[in-house]
Amino acid sequence: MRDDKWTLRGTPRSKSLIFLTQCLLCLVLLCLLFLSESNAFAAPKPPSIRFVTLKSGVYLYLDDVARFYGMSTKVEEKEITLSSRYTTVKLAIDSRVMTLNNVQMHLSRAIMQNGKQLLMGKSDFTNLMEPVLRNKTLPRRKVRHILIDPGHGGKDVGAVSGNIYEKNINLQVAQRLAKKLQARGYRVSMTRTKDEDVPLEERVNIAKKLQPDAFISLHCNSASSSVTGLEIYIATPAGDAPTNDNHVSKKACPANAFNTDNAFLAFFAQQAILLRTGMEDRGIRRRRYYVVRNVPFPCMLVEMGFISNKEELAQLRSAYRQEQIADALTEAVGRYKDATK
Ligand SMILES: [Zn+2]
Repeated sequence: MRDDKWTLRGTPRSKSLIFLTQCLLCLVLLCLLFLSESNAFAAPKPPSIRFVTLKSGVYLYLDDVARFYGMSTKVEEKEITLSSRYTTVKLAIDSRVMTLNNVQMHLSRAIMQNGKQLLMGKSDFTNLMEPVLRNKTLPRRKVRHILIDPGHGGKDVGAVSGNIYEKNINLQVAQRLAKKLQARGYRVSMTRTKDEDVPLEERVNIAKKLQPDAFISLHCNSASSSVTGLEIYIATPAGDAPTNDNHVSKKACPANAFNTDNAFLAFFAQQAILLRTGMEDRGIRRRRYYVVRNVPFPCMLVEMGFISNKEELAQLRSAYRQEQIADALTEAVGRYKDATK
């Protein structure tokens, strides 16, 4: 009986409690709906970037780009510096070179002055600047398997200096890099593990078969004996010009599916090698190299130095320099893995 009484007394109270709770919940939900509609909880929207379409392509207002990243703009003669606490971007009017946190990147379009406005190619913003400055713009990936491509081999000796062949240095660095990546838990494959001929088409086919998460091609450069420095090559986006000319190709290549990945990988590889070696920075460049164009995975081709320069050749042959480069590339792969998680 006691229980019944308690139940009878209790029921209306708990019913009213439930009703009250429901009302409160509805109120909270309505408030949430209102607040989210009014963007009270959303992060402040970054300022929009104005653009202009000219004969040579689509350009963005550089002032807007600077504001977008919270950077100030300083113009002295033709030199432009955009800077914030952590980032410094150096550009120049009519120049196709950008220095981003002390790493050179070659732009597809020169910085332009159009009336009072300074303009930057939209593709240079999207495909070079954004991936480096905002990792969030990169696609999410699982980076586990790296395919290393030691350039040349067999009867294709590559660049030559006396009796020194490029193919051998490429393989030595590749083997060091493979060990370091494996030690960090990556699965590593190579397009060749000994001194053998592997045609370029075959290298691309190996990549297609193995489906790696990144493809790193290793080469040494050659020019006149005074030239030294580091270059990394990535695919030219469709509608852009490669670094060595102004010829725009509208046709996309398989590697263009990874333009932003390529820029990220190349930037951090270039930065890591420069910091370790103090080499001259010849920048991240675009060129229509066969593997760079046709590997349908994130891909870069590293020109590790000039074997046509006496000092650089001696360094490239040393275990010390080879280890520095392998360490730097391992670090770049790690950064890529973290940034795309
Ligand atoms: Zn080569």
